[in-house]
Amino acid sequence: MATRSGGSLGVYDAIVVGVGGMGSAACYHLARRGLRTLGLERFDIPHTMGSSHGITRIIRLAYYEHPSYVPLLLRAFQLWEELERESGRHLLEVTGTIDASGPDEIVFTGALAACEQFGLAHEVLTSAELTARYPGYRLPADHLALLQPRGGFLLPERCISAHVGGALAAGADIRARERVLGWEPTGDGVRVTTDRGIYEAGSLVLAAGAWMASLVPELASLAEPERQVLGWFAPLQPALFAPERFPVFNLTVPEGRYYGFPQYDVPGFKIGLYHHLEERVDPDEFQREASAVDEAPLREAVARYFPAANGPTMALRTCMFTNTPDEHFILDVLPEYPQVVVASPCSGHGFKFASVIGEVLADLAHSGETRHDIELLRLRRFAEKSISAS
Ligand SMILES: Cc1cc2nc3c(=O)[nH]c(=O)nc-3n(C[C@H](O)[C@H](O)[C@H](O)COP(=O)(O)OP(=O)(O)OC[C@H]3O[C@@H](n4cnc5c(N)ncnc54)[C@H](O)[C@@H]3O)c2cc1C
Repeated sequence: MATRSGGSLGVYDAIVVGVGGMGSAACYHLARRGLRTLGLERFDIPHTMGSSHGITRIIRLAYYEHPSYVPLLLRAFQLWEELERESGRHLLEVTGTIDASGPDEIVFTGALAACEQFGLAHEVLTSAELTARYPGYRLPADHLALLQPRGGFLLPERCISAHVGGALAAGADIRARERVLGWEPTGDGVRVTTDRGIYEAGSLVLAAGAWMASLVPELASLAEPERQVLGWFAPLQPALFAPERFPVFNLTVPEGRYYGFPQYDVPGFKIGLYHHLEERVDPDEFQREASAVDEAPLREAVARYFPAANGPTMALRTCMFTNTPDEHFILDVLPEYPQVVVASPCSGHGFKFASVIGEVLADLAHSGETRHDIELLRLRRFAEKSISAS
């Protein structure tokens, strides 16, 4: 099957670089459309070197970042549920979601606006009402919390395995431990060089996460890797932090914006701080081991806002965000090479979208267009730049 009219067939219809959160979903959707698909991953599948590890990722509908994400999320939920049915694996745990901040701050006001605009079920709780219902929470007295019942958390490593399993079953060729060194356009198609060989295809999907700039140098200032740290703390009262008693949260307090999860798998309440120590990094050379300095801001928030979880440290892990200047994703074809699709859906909030982004990437790779509204995520919102091959 040809990918686009007049396009080069090459050996594959589409090559996907990076089989992480987004690339695994792209492989799945491309292969299920009958396209000859090659997925190339430099590490293992899954692995702990990029952005998609750490056992849990929040999924929520009350999207304070921008209401345009809500239609994508509704489709993402549908696709995650389909993937669960098809793979027979549990991928999504529903706990409800809390978005809490001062009454005039964006986490609460934005979540409320998204719910009102899209008619999503929700409740507004005062800080005291939140603690009465979910005693693990002890937020500042003036905070308001928006509770949305449908969200919860995804299990990212399993999601990647499920997408890859589905892609393989549909005939995709997926290769781990094969690093892409570069790509070049060949007429309407592409040629990709790896440390093991050379491949050709009609279209190319670049989903390289924190390494995106090594494949499209012009994206260096638009997709910047940042070191993050996750902490797990053994609760003093474990029953308060069981998934059925503790909704996942986003929380703005004077110390910063935190997010967190009930106890799951690792025996600890999990918490992270957005833009942890604000460390821009080289993805191949940064401090992967977490330290006492990393632990301090997490421990401080646990002690103050979740005191019943303030027990011994169970685990600390590092991970990378890849941030755009406005923290909205990049999802587009390259202006000079429409056969090349770029996906940088991170800025700390992308995983929940991986299922629908896989569908969008397959649309763009197949026909250059998608029925989904991704206007907010297009490259043209940034200053016009000429973007060429690596
Ligand atoms: C600490 C932390 C917490 C987060 N919490 C949430 C959350 O709660 N909810 C949420 O929705 N999102 C969350 N996110 C964001 C989310 O995890 C990311 O948006 C998502 O993982 C990005 O997926 P990706 O496919 O872009 O990157 P990755 O999954 O890292 O995939 C990129 C892949 O490309 C591969 N690659 C790179 N270069 C090459 C090459 N040259 N050749 C071959 N392969 C290559 C890499 O090895 C990697 O596997 C969080 C992120 C972090 C770091």
